[in-house]
Amino acid sequence: MVTEEYLKNKINEPLKNKEKLIALRKAFKTTRDRQNENRILFPDLDSRKERLKKSREYSIGNKELLSQAIKNFEKNGFKVFIAKDNDDAVNYIINEIGEEKLVVKSKSNVTKEICLHEKLEEKGIEVIETDLGDYIIQLSNGKPAHPTGPACHLSRYDIAKIFSDAFQINLEPDPLTLTKFGREKIRNYIEKAKVGITGANAICAEEGAAIIINNEGNINLVQMREKKHIIVTSIDKLYPNIEEAINMLKLCTYYATGAPITSYVEIIAGISKTADIEKMLFKGMQGPGEVILVIVDNGRTEAIEKGYKNLFYCIGCGNCLLDCPVYYVVGNEYGYKGYLGGRGTSASYFLDSPDTALENGLYFCTTCNSCELSCPVDIGNSEYSERIREEVTSIEKNFPTHRKIIENIKKSKNPFGEKSKNETKKGTDIVYFRGCMALYREKDIKDSTMKILERAGVSYALIEEVCCGSVALRTGEKELAKELAKENLEKIKQTGVSTVIFSCAGCLRTFLKDYPNFEESQLKLLHSSQYFLKLIKEGKLKIKDGNKIKLTFHDPCHMGRHLKIYEEPRDILKVIPNIELVEMKRTKENSRCCGAGGGVKSLFGELAIAMARERVKDAIEVEAEAIISTCPFCKRNLKDVSEIDVSDLSEILLKYSE
Ligand code: SF4
Ligand code: SF4
Repeated sequence: MVTEEYLKNKINEPLKNKEKLIALRKAFKTTRDRQNENRILFPDLDSRKERLKKSREYSIGNKELLSQAIKNFEKNGFKVFIAKDNDDAVNYIINEIGEEKLVVKSKSNVTKEICLHEKLEEKGIEVIETDLGDYIIQLSNGKPAHPTGPACHLSRYDIAKIFSDAFQINLEPDPLTLTKFGREKIRNYIEKAKVGITGANAICAEEGAAIIINNEGNINLVQMREKKHIIVTSIDKLYPNIEEAINMLKLCTYYATGAPITSYVEIIAGISKTADIEKMLFKGMQGPGEVILVIVDNGRTEAIEKGYKNLFYCIGCGNCLLDCPVYYVVGNEYGYKGYLGGRGTSASYFLDSPDTALENGLYFCTTCNSCELSCPVDIGNSEYSERIREEVTSIEKNFPTHRKIIENIKKSKNPFGEKSKNETKKGTDIVYFRGCMALYREKDIKDSTMKILERAGVSYALIEEVCCGSVALRTGEKELAKELAKENLEKIKQTGVSTVIFSCAGCLRTFLKDYPNFEESQLKLLHSSQYFLKLIKEGKLKIKDGNKIKLTFHDPCHMGRHLKIYEEPRDILKVIPNIELVEMKRTKENSRCCGAGGGVKSLFGELAIAMARERVKDAIEVEAEAIISTCPFCKRNLKDVSEIDVSDLSEILLKYSE
């Protein structure tokens, strides 16, 4: 049973021991720098991504294309097996390995998914990983941290210790010494093995060809083992043809490493054979006598049919990990086996079980959607974590904090269980929807907003609002959210006013994007900052002088990436003469999440705090004296850790207007 306590303990180690993340962050920075440096080599990057998306859309779940692929692989001499689940795949592979007691293997997430390594060892078959990073992970009994750089979270000191402990020697923590040592060990095993197992980055239907990329050259050695080459892949690695797969390989390499191409691209479209002497066919001339292709389904078809097709567009580049705020502070504790971060966790729901998804961090995701922006095929985990949370609510009984919040909403119509302090007021210009945070926790925000509205002579109505439903939605309680939406919309309708303004970016997003029948309501919904700017432009709100101050603006994810509202809050700050607005390095659509969203603040407070610390560091780096935001959740979470002042835009505008 995966409990709240279990999950808190799981992330406790990386949250407390930041040393562990130094190597990972350094590796991610190197990748990002190299991507930026080589961006010039991809003038057609956007059209390549579009082409890739189209090809994934066409191929994923395309049963006819899969049949064509199988037919062509068989025509080329491959033995093909479709495995419906883990056991199916493992039993088949064990049978193919036969009497051999040593198998060499290259990087493959599908083999990790089906627990091949462990199952082979149970049968007394020794399995050796031949990618250096994977070999280090194998020796340390650890978990990879990146799809193409599995050991990137380990320092030279960690690796020296791993090798020294494993071989009872004393190795210097020198990267070159360690690399050469690993190479010799791996080479010895490869020479002895008669069966090699690899994954495949792509299986191409038109040609019946498998494509595998690598830098180390180990794939070539593994696939050339004398007896058999077993390729273990999955149905979502399907491409219509080699050209489309090559486009994917270029993008995958660029996003995974920053390089324009890998050292090796292996295309396997047949078996090793000759008929040079009197046309007599001989199989296994210099390569293996048999090539076997195992294509694993393991829940993918069901997921695709349930509407999760885009989740399986993934090409395994790992770029989403580089900007994920959760991964940044807990590393590979977030993710499932080789499928790391939010996307991997969501996929684990289908590839394994609901409990596995919970254990791997289904509730860690802040729903910031930074990953969608980094992903070459637009996989945004925010949508998937919300949908999957909805499916697991029935087994979420072991999360008492969430249960309490949901009970509070049901009983008191707010997540804090507070007695309603909802004053109502008639007005003719707008309805001001304050939101639970401004009503019960960050009251200065509502007070400032109302004072500004009064100052500008706006006739505003207040309704006896109930929670907007955002918390319920983000944590998987869609039905409850629908009831709340209905109640709020009816109350707004009764005022006869058609414009509603919001202090909270989360409430605004929920109304705009998630409210059923919202379109029919014909309401105009704005964030308060958008409305304030209008008042300034119309001359209803006058800007006045005040203390000189250097500020930075933090884009709330709900308002920025989710609603694409970036400029209005900045425009307000820019018209105030004594305010100097400085931008943090990560800003606007690339803004770093504060860590409070998706129910993370309430469920995993320490995790939210760790993310907030990183955001505050961004502000300090640009020497800002204060952080301004337009979301009460962001304000509270940043304020909880900040050495500098954190305010809502309404509070600062109140000071600088008359
Ligand atoms: S939505 Fe944000 S927190 Fe969730 S997986 Fe994507 S980047 Fe990470
Ligand atoms: S989800 Fe997107 S960015 Fe992340 S590994 Fe897959 S393809 Fe790459």
